[in-house]
Amino acid sequence: MQTKLLINGQLVAGEGIGQAVLNPSLGTALVEINEASSAQVDAAVRAADAAFDSWSQTAPKDRSLLLLRLADKIDAHAEELAKLESDNCGKPYSAALNDELPAIADVFRFFAGASRCLSGSAAGEYLPGHTSMIRRDPIGVVASIAPWNYPLMMVAWKLAPALAAGNTVVLKPSEQTPLTALKLAEFLAEIFPAGVVNIVFGRGPSVGSPLVTHPKVRMVSLTGSVATGSNIISSTSDSVKRMHMELGGKAPVIIFNDADIDAAVEGIRTFGFYNAGQDCTAACRIYAQKGIYEKFVSKLGEAVGSIKYGLQNDPSTELGPLITAEHRERVAGFVERARGLPHVQVITGGRKVDGPGFFYEPTVLAGLRQNDEIVRREVFGPVVTVTPFDDEAQVLAWANDSDYGLASSVWTSDVGRASRIAARLQYGCTWVNTHFMLVSEMPHGGVKHSGYGKDMSMYGLEDYTAIRHVMFKH
Ligand code: NAD
Repeated sequence: MQTKLLINGQLVAGEGIGQAVLNPSLGTALVEINEASSAQVDAAVRAADAAFDSWSQTAPKDRSLLLLRLADKIDAHAEELAKLESDNCGKPYSAALNDELPAIADVFRFFAGASRCLSGSAAGEYLPGHTSMIRRDPIGVVASIAPWNYPLMMVAWKLAPALAAGNTVVLKPSEQTPLTALKLAEFLAEIFPAGVVNIVFGRGPSVGSPLVTHPKVRMVSLTGSVATGSNIISSTSDSVKRMHMELGGKAPVIIFNDADIDAAVEGIRTFGFYNAGQDCTAACRIYAQKGIYEKFVSKLGEAVGSIKYGLQNDPSTELGPLITAEHRERVAGFVERARGLPHVQVITGGRKVDGPGFFYEPTVLAGLRQNDEIVRREVFGPVVTVTPFDDEAQVLAWANDSDYGLASSVWTSDVGRASRIAARLQYGCTWVNTHFMLVSEMPHGGVKHSGYGKDMSMYGLEDYTAIRHVMFKH
C-alpha cells in the first residue's frame, strides 16, 4: 500500500506521529501512517512556492495534456482505486467503481479542456487614448483540505481547477481516508513537475492548521464542516488569504400533493441514503404536503426498510457503515433525542446494528416540526425526517429557515410552481423532480453557512484565478 507523502516530487515517509487508518465496515485498522512533521509541511509549501513561477507560465495546452494523462491513469487504475476507497470508507465497491471513479476522471478531463478556454471578459478603449484588458491569472500556492466522505472525488474537485488555472497546490486529505489520495500521489509524481502538487497526511490541528496558516499560502480551499471553515477563516484572517469554502448542508426536499409519489419515494430511497447519508446534499429534510403525507410516509418507510446494508464487497450491499464509532454515536444521539419527542414516530430503523463495524439502520422519522433539532442540524447519516405542510407559502418559509444553503429539491407536476419555488429557494442548487445529480459543467457550492466559492464548472476554474486589469497608454 502506498503510504508516503508527496513533497517536491519525491515520495517520502511522514516524520510525525503514527495514525491508524480504519476499515469502518469491520472497525479494524488497515494500516498506520505517519503524519507530516511541521518541517515537512513547511517543505511542501516551499516546494509549491518555488514551482509556481514556472508552472504559472506554462501554456494552458501543456497543463491540459498533463491533466488528461492523469485522467487516463485514473481510468487505468480504477479497480485498485475503487477498492482502496471502498475499504477505507466502507462504501459499496460497485458504487465506488461505477459511480465515483468515472466522475473523478471526468472532472480532470473537464478542467483539462476548461484551462484552454479561460479568458478575461473585456478588452477595449474605456478611456480615450488607452487600451484596457482583463486577465485571469493564477493566485499562487493553494492549500487544499479535503473531507472523508468522498475522498478521491474531493481531491479531483480541488486539484483539477487549481492546477488548470496555473496554481501550485499542497493538499491534505482527511486523516480518516487518505489512501486514494496517497495512491494518486504516485501518479502525480510521475506526471507533474516537482513541487507543482504536494500531498501531506495528518490531522487538522497538527498538519492542517500549520498548512493553512503558512505565510506562503495564498488561498485556502476547504471542503468540510462549518466549524472547521469558521476556524480556518479566523485563524488566517491576519494574512488575508483567498478562501474557498464548501461546508455542510441540510437539504430541504419539498413534495407537493401533485408530485409523482413513487418517483419521490424512489428518489429519496436513493439520494437520502447514498454513501450512508454522509453527503452534504443528502435528501434528508423532507416536507410532504398534507394531502399525500400519510401515503407518502408509509411508502417511504417500506422502501427505506428494504435498503440492504452490509460489507463493501458484497454486490448486493446498498448501504455501508458510518465512518467512525464516534460519528455513529453522534447520529444515534440525534435519533434518540428526536424519538423522545411526543409528536415524532419512528417509521423504520432507528438503531445501531450489532456486530463489528459502525453500521446504523436506514431510518425514517415522521411527524417532525420545523424547530426540532434533527430538522435544523446536519446529521450526516442514513436518517431522513418528514414534516407535514399546508401550502406553498408555509413550506417555502420553512425550507429557507435554515443556516444551511447548499442543495434543495422540489417535487411537483406543476411547472409554474416549480419555477416559482426554485426562484425563491436560498440554496446553491435546486433540483426539480430529482435530487443529487451533479455534472462537471455545472457549479456546486452553497450560500449562507454552507460557504462560498464553486466547485466544478467554469465558475470553479475562475475561483482559482485573480482578475487583473492591464492598461496601455497609446
Ligand atoms: P471536518 O471539518 O471535520 O474536516 C474536514 C477537513 O478539515 C479534514 O481534512 C480535517 O483534517 C481538516 N481540518 C480540521 N480542522 C482543521 C484546521 N483547524 N485547519 C486545517 N484543516 C483542518 O469535516 P469532515 O467530518 O471530514 O467532513 C464532513 C463535513 O464536510 C460535513 O459537514 C459535510 O457537509 C461537509 N462536506 C461538504 C461538501 C460540500 O461540497 N459543501 C462536500 C462534502 C462534505
